[in-house]
Amino acid sequence: MADTNEKKKLRIGVLALQGAFTEHQHLLHRLTEDVDSTVQVKTEAALLDPTLDALILPGGESTTMALIAERTGLMEPLRNWVKAGKPVWGTCAGMILLSNEAHKIKIGGQSLIGGLDVTVKRNAFGAQVDSFVGDLSVPALTEPERLFPGVFIRAPIIETVKPEKVQVLARVVKNAAPTSAEDGDIVAVRQGHILATAFHPELTSDERFHRYFIDMVREVQDQTKA
Ligand code: GLN
Repeated sequence: MADTNEKKKLRIGVLALQGAFTEHQHLLHRLTEDVDSTVQVKTEAALLDPTLDALILPGGESTTMALIAERTGLMEPLRNWVKAGKPVWGTCAGMILLSNEAHKIKIGGQSLIGGLDVTVKRNAFGAQVDSFVGDLSVPALTEPERLFPGVFIRAPIIETVKPEKVQVLARVVKNAAPTSAEDGDIVAVRQGHILATAFHPELTSDERFHRYFIDMVREVQDQTKA
């Protein structure tokens, strides 16, 4: 473990084509010990900035985001970011974009960034009115006994994962407490440098998922340095 005094503060990009990107920035700005700055990424040049340590793909509308990314020439650079093993976190629509396969996509299809060995189902809990807050048991977080408030807004679920590659971090049972670790739909996963959550930690005051991401970024950086 590196000496904590030497820890370099991170510069974190948030894809800012559409959706809840400022909310991620606001939460990250509270983590002043670890985060130096955040950047709204809207162009290839911003993404290629070598000072960028990590990228967040926010929630919003994955079809719209994919369309804008295609039109602005960002899709391929985003795919290259993930392929290069750089740290990335997708929340909700962002999670859909990171998946290798999505079901219930719009007629005419939807392009994905991919990289995450899962299949997802969009709008798995129904429409906007079916949004809910689910208490999640997430053993990987600090203070794991404290349940994490999962804000689900037209949220996807992860239907299948490649178990040898993907670590399941959390599941949800709508309107009920999970009775076992195997109970419910998969809503948070990690695959090496990729984190994906079906819910919106940036819409809560609980910083623990953002801290988990920061620790993940440092782990990936330490591995690439070694
Ligand atoms: N239903 C949206 C989609 O398919 C995701 C919703 C969200 O990001 N809150 O992209």
